[in-house]
Amino acid sequence: MADEADQTAERMEYDDKINRYKSRKDEPDIKQPIGECLSCGAELSSRRWCDADCRDLWELENRT
Ligand SMILES: [Zn+2]
Repeated sequence: MADEADQTAERMEYDDKINRYKSRKDEPDIKQPIGECLSCGAELSSRRWCDADCRDLWELENRT
């Protein structure tokens, strides 16, 4: 029984590591300006969002 509990804890730790790795891996792409607003798609040269509203909306959808 103790072994089973240990395995569950290990498994949860593993999932946690994977999730952290994934979110870290996604970050560099998101941080780069892509030529348009990440939220509404408006054309932008060097920013990722038109304004704070678009950023907040995007963060709401992507950081939950
Ligand atoms: Zn926008």
